Amino acid sequence: MAIAATEPSTVRAFGPADALSCRECGERYDLTPKFACEFCFGPLEVAYDFGDVSRAEIESGPANIWRYRSLLPVPPNVAELPNMNPGLTPLVKADRLAAELGLDSLYVKDDSGNPTHSFKDRVVAMAVEAARTFGFTTLSCSSTGNLAGAVGAAAARAGFDSCVFIPAGLEEAKVVMAAVYGGKVVAIDGNYDDVNRFCSELIGDPAGEGWGFVNVNLRPYYGEGSKTLAYEIAEQLGWRLPEQIVIPIASGSQLTKIDKGFQELIKIGLVENRPYRIFGAQATGCSPVARAWEAGHDVIQPVKPDTIAKSLAIGNPADGPYVLDIAQRTGGSVEHVSDAEVVDSINLLARTEGVFAETAGGVTTGVLRKLVREGRIDPKAETVVLNTGDGLKTLNAVEAGVTATIKPSLSAFTDAGLL
Ligand SMILES: *Cc1c(COP(=O)(O)O)cnc(C)c1O
Ligand SMILES: [Zn+2]
Repeated sequence: MAIAATEPSTVRAFGPADALSCRECGERYDLTPKFACEFCFGPLEVAYDFGDVSRAEIESGPANIWRYRSLLPVPPNVAELPNMNPGLTPLVKADRLAAELGLDSLYVKDDSGNPTHSFKDRVVAMAVEAARTFGFTTLSCSSTGNLAGAVGAAAARAGFDSCVFIPAGLEEAKVVMAAVYGGKVVAIDGNYDDVNRFCSELIGDPAGEGWGFVNVNLRPYYGEGSKTLAYEIAEQLGWRLPEQIVIPIASGSQLTKIDKGFQELIKIGLVENRPYRIFGAQATGCSPVARAWEAGHDVIQPVKPDTIAKSLAIGNPADGPYVLDIAQRTGGSVEHVSDAEVVDSINLLARTEGVFAETAGGVTTGVLRKLVREGRIDPKAETVVLNTGDGLKTLNAVEAGVTATIKPSLSAFTDAGLL
């Protein structure tokens, strides 16, 4: 029901957040594990009443996402709680890649160095704080791979049980990373969209009681973690928004929250209000948002995913329509690249910048290259491309190996014709 007096302890637990609000109709709700509007079924998101936040206060904070705690739904002492403390990953000035692509100014926001080697540690960190406050005892999720590992690790650190759900047939490294922390990992015979549907059923069933599904019933809190990418990029550029940014799309949550983060920075006066263009990136084998964009539709036609970019393989992306709005509003677009281009782009990024991306990073780099080639991005404008995961998790995507195997002798080396 509509908002009642919120308990003071809950308010403190969520810092500057003061309500959940419906993205469609604006109806406001208490900060509870609720994720859909009772009136219009629209998604709920966290609404804030920000106090004064200064650059200096942020800069003197911890070297992780908690430096932005006064912009997040977390308690003021969050940095002292058992958490994975992700974030503040490098913004790599990518001059060699820029030269190869024909861009003047390019940065790679490299999120592969988070605790479980993907950007998902950011979103899970938010969900863990919400789960603590709501008294959940088990952390769960429907995952395309990286989320399962992030939830397993965060649950271990914070003392929750965990049980995560993945589609069968994921990359081996992602399964191992999900399982090694000691929680339960359940593979479901189906694709991600089947897994997600199953989790929605489980939430409504007594079997799922006491469970916090980080990307379902805790989704409003979870999503806010992606704002920290926007904050970091702006801070690392010297408190300035990039002019163009290329972001991968699975459910579309990350892209919409990066936009929300930029808007908040403008609103509270931490950056100048300059225009920025947001470009969404998908793999051709799972490109429902890019196809809707191409066709000029504002609804998303679900697809059956078939791509090596498994971390982005969501055939029915919940935030797809909002992604279309943002691309439209900012003068960006939504594009797709083939699996062959994904592999090629992983190699390009590694060869030029020493960044080994997972397939999702191949998707964004590939889309950036395509945008430049087709003249649909401004080559003179300051551009950021995201790498959201570590190449070690998708080793099978690339073919790379030893240059030669030789006997341990100088003559063998010189004879091998490598010089
Ligand atoms: C989950 C994921 C994304 C984006 O997910 P959204 O659902 O769109 O927020 C991007 N890259 C990687 C590597 C991921 O695991
Ligand atoms: Zn509503």
